[in-house]
Amino acid sequence: MKVLKFGGTSVGSAQRIKEVAKLITDGEQKIVVLSAMSGTTNTLVEISDYLYKKNPEGANEIINKLEHTYKKHVDELFSTAEYKQKALEMIKSHFDYIRAFTKDLFTLFEEKVILAQGELISTALMNYYLQECGTSSVLLPALDYMRTDKNAEPDPVYIKDKLQIQLELHPGVEIYITQGYICRNAYGEIDNLQRGGSDYTASLIGAAINATEIQIWTDIDGMHNNDPRIVENTTPVRQLHFEEAAELAYFGAKILHPTCIQPAKYANIPVRLLNTMDPTAPGTLISNDTEKGKIKAVAAKDNITAIKIKSSRMLLAHGFLRKVFEIFESYQTSIDMICTSEVGVSVSIDNTKHLNEILDDLKKYGTVTVDKNMCIVCVVGDLEWENVGFEAKTMDAMKDVPVRMISYGGSNYNISFLIRECDKKAALQSLSKELFDNN
Ligand code: ASP
Ligand code: MG
Repeated sequence: MKVLKFGGTSVGSAQRIKEVAKLITDGEQKIVVLSAMSGTTNTLVEISDYLYKKNPEGANEIINKLEHTYKKHVDELFSTAEYKQKALEMIKSHFDYIRAFTKDLFTLFEEKVILAQGELISTALMNYYLQECGTSSVLLPALDYMRTDKNAEPDPVYIKDKLQIQLELHPGVEIYITQGYICRNAYGEIDNLQRGGSDYTASLIGAAINATEIQIWTDIDGMHNNDPRIVENTTPVRQLHFEEAAELAYFGAKILHPTCIQPAKYANIPVRLLNTMDPTAPGTLISNDTEKGKIKAVAAKDNITAIKIKSSRMLLAHGFLRKVFEIFESYQTSIDMICTSEVGVSVSIDNTKHLNEILDDLKKYGTVTVDKNMCIVCVVGDLEWENVGFEAKTMDAMKDVPVRMISYGGSNYNISFLIRECDKKAALQSLSKELFDNN
């Protein structure tokens, strides 16, 4: 069985819901994971913010507006009085529930419940719509099988067992619809898999049922070999190794949430990225296969800060790096890139919330320099160290760009350059020309 996930824009209007319904009705049995309709989760966050600030009037105003929007969706989506009625009652019950939280103490727990309503509504709408069309479909309640453990990590054994039970309750149904993103935590409370977590849901389900394929449907045509906002003539990448996709997902290729990679990779289930706006386009297939020796894509990540610590004490000493890393750890700041020499180490970070404290602490160990407004450009492909030529090719493309750090060898799939943000465009264009023209 396949698992198909549709993101917020793919179900962002009544028309889009109808198109997705058409797309998934092909007689094959499948699990369909949906996000909330686009904008809804953000609006629910906004409502929560008003409630944290003890402003129920502000919250109610947005709640009423959102409810009104949903009523319009219902009106457009359904053609029979029976289903219109059912859907309106469903919408009303969710919004009454949200309104109930404007009257009492508001904590993280209540916020999670409010955030869950977006996916609960979008899936209920899709399920009713399919039923109105005469398609055999049923809702699988994510809150009954999707669960995290005490470390807030998904609990694969629980998910597999409970999902199996849910599926067995409805044998022979063509389309199982379920909510992305939402789950319960180890204490049974409503929780979520973090913003953008619907991709993760799809991947966890795929692994749990040993799916033949996980499809992530968005409104973009697969992963591209470069940033289309910056470089002309980018082309979609048709095949990626999971590790390559992970590097690209992290480097801001918005199309796939990085957490989605791991469960699919370990269960060896291919992930296919497809475009709802162009359903017959081949998209991008992500699997454990490597295209030998091929450089696949270039991506960039902005807002990077580089920090260099130079110390003669590092020379021939041990434990120096540990002390440096501990400082970052104590401020919960993760390090992206690292380069070392015998007398110094440079690291890059993207979270500068505690930069000043980190710098003060680092100064105890040596001379510290900081470069802000930097950017990581990463080249992704089969960069196995025994392959030759890829280093020279990428370096050649970067020959006119001032490079602050270079990192290779952390994985076989990436080589990263730290440059100034203002040089990003030139770097991406030059890499594109060097690596992908004439391919
Ligand atoms: N609706 C959630 C969000 O906007 C989850 C998702 O769309 O993946 O973050
Ligand atoms: Mg998303």
